[in-house]
Amino acid sequence: MKNYHRKRILVTGGAGFLGSHLCERLLNEGNDVLCLDNFFTGTRENIIHLMDNHRFELIRHDVVEPILLEVDEIYNLACPASPIHYQYNPIKTTKTSVMGAINMLGLARRTRAWIMQASTSEVYGDPQVHPQPESYWGNVNPIGPRSCYDEGKRCAETLFFDYHREHGIPIKVARIFNTYGPRMHPADGRVVSNFIIQALKGEDITIYGDGTQTRSFCYVDEMVDAFIRLMGSPEDFTGPVNLGNPAEFTIRELAEKVIDITGSGSRLIRKPLPADDPKQRQPDIRLAREALGWAPRIKLEEGLKKTIAHFEQLLSESA
Ligand code: NAD
Ligand code: UDP
Repeated sequence: MKNYHRKRILVTGGAGFLGSHLCERLLNEGNDVLCLDNFFTGTRENIIHLMDNHRFELIRHDVVEPILLEVDEIYNLACPASPIHYQYNPIKTTKTSVMGAINMLGLARRTRAWIMQASTSEVYGDPQVHPQPESYWGNVNPIGPRSCYDEGKRCAETLFFDYHREHGIPIKVARIFNTYGPRMHPADGRVVSNFIIQALKGEDITIYGDGTQTRSFCYVDEMVDAFIRLMGSPEDFTGPVNLGNPAEFTIRELAEKVIDITGSGSRLIRKPLPADDPKQRQPDIRLAREALGWAPRIKLEEGLKKTIAHFEQLLSESA
């Protein structure tokens, strides 16, 4: 029988960057947390501090395979998120998004659990509408190197809405824009972690292309807060809802900020722009403001300082 006072919550991809912060927050709020992960990009180190908590349970499992559990809520985050990792085995990436969604939606259907999907701003591809509202259908290349991720996530959204329409499952679809913070994978090649590590090591900072492409960066704690608000929103609010910080920066500006804060002597160097790299990205978060009462407040400098402190410690431990 479900316990409606203390919820049992499944977080797939719970040993990853966002997942580990979410597990921590859900435990702090007094829930039972089941962290499911296949450890492709997640690590035990990310959740080691939660292991002693008797309300925390770790399940090594691949979402591509079905699983039987009793849960009240599901946050479906399992999927490699950085281009290096999701392009490592692109067929598996699509399977993870599509089969993972089918399996988790099946579980939600059986247990009547509410379920949130970690979708992405990549569903907008290289957007021709700026900033991107949820009503924009996107500009996605279906056959390029990023397609395994983008189209997998688009198909997962389709499955969420079909299960909702066909079976009445309470769904929540979050379109997550670039998020950063402590516990980002140091080797996943994402821009924030790359620049910080390069700056701290005094290595060249690698700007892909001319650095005029833009991204909008949200600090992890605020993203986790948005997930919880979204799950707690009324049943008839399904999303999709954009979650991200609307403050937009060029990649060159980001590099300069990292150099500034770290006081690094690193030089900026240019490298070729990867295929299908979106030129601009900024969330229109009017819906999140209205429906969830949520808007990020942490400025990039402030979030970068916390993230830099984390990587400084990581580098000193591995020295
Ligand atoms: P991450 O790579 O740190 O975490 C993903 C987790 O999923 C890892 O622990 C990994 O081991 C696990 N995983 C991967 N494939 C799996 C499988 N088949 N079965 C079980 N576990 C599996 O990435 P993240 O940044 O924490 O992203 C979490 C989710 O949020 C992803 O779905 C990602 O697409 C989405 N997202 C993240 C961002 C961002 O900026 N971080 C932006 C948009 C969307
Ligand atoms: N990028 C860069 N140097 C790096 C890593 C990334 O200039 O060392 C650029 C990348 O080409 C992209 C942006 O930074 O334009 C964000 O890249 P990331 O992989 O972090 O996220 P995504 O492209 O998925 O938004």
